[in-house]
Formats: sequence, structure tokens, C-alpha cells
Amino acid sequence: MDIAGNIKKLKKEIKAGVCLVAVSKTKPNEDILEAYHAGHKVFGENKIQDLVKKAEELPKDIEWHFIGHPQTNKVKYIAPFISLIHGVDSLKLLKMINKEGKKNNRVISCLLQFHIAEEQTKFGLDLNEAKAILGSEEFSELTNVEVKGVMGMATYTKDEFQIRKEFRELKSVFNSIKEAYFVNQDSFCEISMGMSGDYKIAIEEGSTMVRVGSIIFGERIYH
Ligand SMILES: *Cc1c(COP(=O)(O)O)cnc(C)c1O
Repeated sequence: MDIAGNIKKLKKEIKAGVCLVAVSKTKPNEDILEAYHAGHKVFGENKIQDLVKKAEELPKDIEWHFIGHPQTNKVKYIAPFISLIHGVDSLKLLKMINKEGKKNNRVISCLLQFHIAEEQTKFGLDLNEAKAILGSEEFSELTNVEVKGVMGMATYTKDEFQIRKEFRELKSVFNSIKEAYFVNQDSFCEISMGMSGDYKIAIEEGSTMVRVGSIIFGERIYH
């Protein structure tokens, strides 16, 4: 793989204002360094242990995103340095992130994950669940966690119509939440949607942040 070339090509293609999160999960440090030396600084991982190890070993000006669903008891390991946690889908998790944010004397940014795909999964909120969290007194008391937007994954399918429909749904969820809870908060501005197979559609539908792995680093091999 020409990782540097892939990164440069993608950055040219992706329109200004859309953040590219290079998803480096399962990939070795030398691959990440190749992207880094091509000028890229934002990387995403979905396993806490791997992320912590890579963050220790790699340059300190890398902005690390956690793109998975962190277990509450593992938040503490990434709390000192994480830039953005994408997969937050419960008040319990928000409270834990808040607690670890306090300990580290920082405000930790996160996104609420929504379930928009047809596939069954344990993860992701629907609009009513999100409203129950955001409207709660407990949420209003959290000082060291900041919700910056929403995140979602479309169904794994070749059906563009289906994918587009799901991204539109996420955009509409974002708009509802923005209007109801964050009207005067410019920091609530992120819609994290789009992966290697569907980032173009996602950007057309209003994505502000795409999480792209395999078309930069090559297919992942899981052992
Ligand atoms: C792995 C992963 C990606 C990147 O997937 P690619 O298809 O390789 O681009 C994006 N988002 C999440 C949440 C992932 O787990």
C-alpha cells in the first residue's frame, strides 16, 4: 500500500471542513508513521489497549480518537490524552468519562452514537433515549465531559439508496438534538459518519468527520 499517497489523495478529495480520521486499528506503528510523515495527525483506534500502547510509542502531537464503544472500566486508560470518544451511548458512560475527566483536570470531548443501520447491534441510541439522557438533571451536572455531536454507521450494503437514507436520518437526529439542547453551543457541530465504502455519500449528506481505514492502510487481517 502507498499509505502516504492514499492519504494525500483522500485529503485532496475530501472537502474543506470535513475532518479525516485515519482508522489505524490492527495496523503497526510503521504504517501510522508513514501517514504521519505525510502530514497526517488524526488517527482512530477501537481497542483501548492498542490505543494506549500506540499513543505511548508514537509522536505526542498525534490526535487520537477512540472510535469504538469503550467499556466503562477502561475509560481511565485513555482519559489523560484522548481527543474525542465517538461511541458514547449511555448516561453511565458519560458519567464515567466525566469522572475520569475530573481526575485528569480536563474536559473530555465525545459524540453520541446512534443506531441508524438495519443490522442488529447492541450499540447506539435512538432519538428518545438520547433525549432522556440530555434532558436529565444528572447530565446537566457533568462538568468534565462535552458532547460535541453525533456518530453513526450505515448498514453494510451496496445499496446506495439505503445508505443515503440512514445518513439523512443521522443528520436529522443531529438537527433535532442541536435545536433542543445545544442551540447556543457552537461546539456541538460534529456529525461523524462515513467509512471507506461510503464516505463520499456521507459527505454529500452532511458529514463533518469521516472515519476511513482500509482504503488508506489496506484491508485488515484479523488473527
Ligand atoms: C473500522 C472502523 C472504521 C473504518 O472502516 P473502513 O471500512 O476500514 O474504512 C470506521 N468506523 C468504525 C467505528 C470502525 O470500527
